Amino acid sequence: MTIPRFWREIPIRYNLVGSKCPLCGTVFFPPKEICKICRRVSIDQMIPEKLSGRGTILTHTTVHEAPTDFESQVPYHLAIIELDEGPSVLGQITDCMNGDLAIGSRVRSVFRRVSEDGVSGTIHYGYKFVLDHSR
Ligand code: ZN
Repeated sequence: MTIPRFWREIPIRYNLVGSKCPLCGTVFFPPKEICKICRRVSIDQMIPEKLSGRGTILTHTTVHEAPTDFESQVPYHLAIIELDEGPSVLGQITDCMNGDLAIGSRVRSVFRRVSEDGVSGTIHYGYKFVLDHSR
């Protein structure tokens, strides 16, 4: 990932900020500048929406053959999570054993190291998810 793109996405990565269509109430993550339901009339009307980071696992898998830069994390768990506000996101589930994961499990987002650039040593942070045992 290039540095400019990384910095531009910091509000999204650090705070889980999506966008909400004030016309129909649909929430998008990553944020969109136009609602795919209301289309043209939503232009310039989308508002930032801070997401709770809480959601439910829709499906999950364990990655044993990782892409470059992620080899050191193998095996790791990926899941598609339906956030409580509506949007679905692909995220890594961390701090868990494979047997702990199930469709329907509740998760919450946490702020973690995502990757490290080999040459510059720049460490990238972002959101991951952990199982939420609070309810
Ligand atoms: Zn809309």
